[in-house]
Amino acid sequence: MAEKLIKLCEEKCLKGTVLSRDEIIALLEIPVGSPEDQGLREAARRTASRVALGKGYIWCAIGMDYAPCAMNCKFCSFGEKWGLIEQSRHMTEEEIFEYVHGYVAAGASYIVLRTTEFYSLDALLELVPHIRREIPGNYEIILNTGELDFVTANRVAAADVYGVYHSLRLREGTDTPFSPEKRRYSMNSITDAQMSLISLVEPLGPEHSAQEIADCFLNAVSCGTKICGAMARFPVKGTPLGDGIPMVDESYLAHVIAALRLSGGNTVRDICVHPASQEAVSSGANVVVVESGAVPRDAEFTEKDRAERDIQHARELLEKGGYQLSSPPAQNTKRRKCACQGGNLEKFMQPIILNILSQGAQTGYAVQKQMGEYATYQHAIPDMAATYRFLNIMKQRGLVHHDGTVYAITDAGSNCLDDWRKTLKEYASTLTCLIGQLETSPGA
Ligand code: SF4
Repeated sequence: MAEKLIKLCEEKCLKGTVLSRDEIIALLEIPVGSPEDQGLREAARRTASRVALGKGYIWCAIGMDYAPCAMNCKFCSFGEKWGLIEQSRHMTEEEIFEYVHGYVAAGASYIVLRTTEFYSLDALLELVPHIRREIPGNYEIILNTGELDFVTANRVAAADVYGVYHSLRLREGTDTPFSPEKRRYSMNSITDAQMSLISLVEPLGPEHSAQEIADCFLNAVSCGTKICGAMARFPVKGTPLGDGIPMVDESYLAHVIAALRLSGGNTVRDICVHPASQEAVSSGANVVVVESGAVPRDAEFTEKDRAERDIQHARELLEKGGYQLSSPPAQNTKRRKCACQGGNLEKFMQPIILNILSQGAQTGYAVQKQMGEYATYQHAIPDMAATYRFLNIMKQRGLVHHDGTVYAITDAGSNCLDDWRKTLKEYASTLTCLIGQLETSPGA
């Protein structure tokens, strides 16, 4: 039974199809360590070679501020209520450059600048071009910072940031004070600003069910994540989830990685694991994390010598796993086009299609014809190829269903349309305010 399921899921993955929630749950429920689990991991490793083209990436995160955070997430060592940080420490620009330099020289694919929730975005956006100017190399810069709205995400994209890490975490709103809706809004803003969204299933603990893992994964996919995967929760003593609940073991994490590798089709080409192990790399993970400085999974600041050892280890894991260490995939260069040229308007295709389909299932042709009735397409409707391409992406994200003839909106699509309505209202009021400010400024 499980063998048949794995074969079917492998075929679907190679055809580029994202698995359904039920299929993902069924894969996750295969007993760890069973012969079927072995079959799942082998299938995942085979598909990783095809989908990820045999390329491996090292994700080097630099925690820039070691400081108490008022958000008090129950698993995070920075929560100010847990009192684990005796003395705050903020990396100097010189220190950050030293880390970046070391990582780039050692073969980093991604440099991730990570901060707590309230770090100044202006300071971060000044730092990015400075790093790019001073430290050349085939790497890309990712930010991992607070919530972003559509306008702010566009500012980040304009600063030549490749992508942003953001996630609707497991038990968001219960183990954290964040509203899941706000997290999803940030994730959608990142992709709408044409940056890469990176989003893992995290922080994974033994208490999380297969259903929770599948929902977390599918949410990331529906928001357009480019890299997914899983990160275990590290039990940090002194945090509410750090005492008494063990960390998931290496085998279980590798099993989850194998299931997620098959689940993402070619929509999620790269699968990341943290902490990395040879077992996880052999089960389909091709992105490995190295972290330094302030780490929310550690009560102490991680010094540079350990970071150097870790990147060496990451290289060995990927090379031994048969991956070729690579620089990040080229990105759609449209995002580098200045926003003053109106390039972002096309992104409203998604809410328009969802709105059309909310009135009833229709063919792709009928959808395209109706698009001309919407404000952003009055002068030029998209061609059929672009409409079908977009419908296909939405299908892979689980927002629409296609029965071979007509497209229909799914429950996830209806939720997404509701999010869009709220997002666009907020965006419209921000824009009205901004236009007023631009028109009344002395230079207008
Ligand atoms: S996980 Fe992030 S937001 Fe939550 S307490 Fe830690 S630093 Fe703050």
